[in-house]
Amino acid sequence: MTHEEQVKRMTEMMAKFVGHTAKKLPDDVIAKLEELRSKEDSPMATVIYDTMFRNQELAVKLNRPSCQDTGVLQFWVKCGTRFPLIDDLEALLKEAVVKSTFETPLRHNSVETFDEYNTGKNVGKGTPTVWWDIVPNSDSCEIYTYMAGGGCTLPGNATVLMPGEGYEGVTKFVLDRMTSYGLNACPPLLVGVGVATSVETAALLSKKALMRPIGSHNENERAAKMEKLLEDGINAIGLGPQGMGGNYSVMGVHIENTARHPSAIGVAVNVGCWSHRRGHIIFDKDLNYTITTHSGVEL
Ligand code: SF4
Repeated sequence: MTHEEQVKRMTEMMAKFVGHTAKKLPDDVIAKLEELRSKEDSPMATVIYDTMFRNQELAVKLNRPSCQDTGVLQFWVKCGTRFPLIDDLEALLKEAVVKSTFETPLRHNSVETFDEYNTGKNVGKGTPTVWWDIVPNSDSCEIYTYMAGGGCTLPGNATVLMPGEGYEGVTKFVLDRMTSYGLNACPPLLVGVGVATSVETAALLSKKALMRPIGSHNENERAAKMEKLLEDGINAIGLGPQGMGGNYSVMGVHIENTARHPSAIGVAVNVGCWSHRRGHIIFDKDLNYTITTHSGVEL
């Protein structure tokens, strides 16, 4: 393949992959929803879970997105410095979003701020979002895709706490957000928490936390314990599926952290909804791909 043909091929594959993630939830999300459904005992909660599974069946059968809000596309790219398409990546992801907008189709979710018009293509100034992690001495490229819907984006918040507020302050910040805005995000929620040195480092980590597989834990055992405590605390609020009441409110709580300044605790929260449309694909230098989130996908 020539370089131009490679760019075209990767654009097509990413457009298709984005379209697929709009219609079919990741395997780990489905497994978690099935587990939560089996642990609910109220008729309302079980009916809502059954509706979600029916929604998934119909989305595939009718070949259309499972939720009308297909979000703002966000990509987290971990790209090797020797990946052959590194220079083309950002432009081809943008093109893939335009292609997928018409082919899938995706809802038009890119409104130019201040000028207040919808571009109609899901691309605009700074959209789709592309975050870069450059990986030295590698020729492969890992891409996380995420559809940031309106409802699941709403609970997002970040602040810097006084040092004396400690981990109790982090807990209060997260729980306050869940009791006030959790309902907006179509529970059960995946809750991402960033704890870091400043507002932007915490905010980015809280979104990165949502890319982790459900059931994974922070490698620090104290942080992992806090994930469990927060999970129990948010479940105890009793939001249940779609906020209609139930034993479980969350699919998981993921904390990501860095070291921090001794006088500040940056903390942020970000939320994924039951329709947590994230995908993960890895390309080698010849554009052979491995998809870790969704089984049985051919691009
Ligand atoms: S919160 Fe999620 S499931 Fe609910 S409307 Fe938004 S994208 Fe759809």
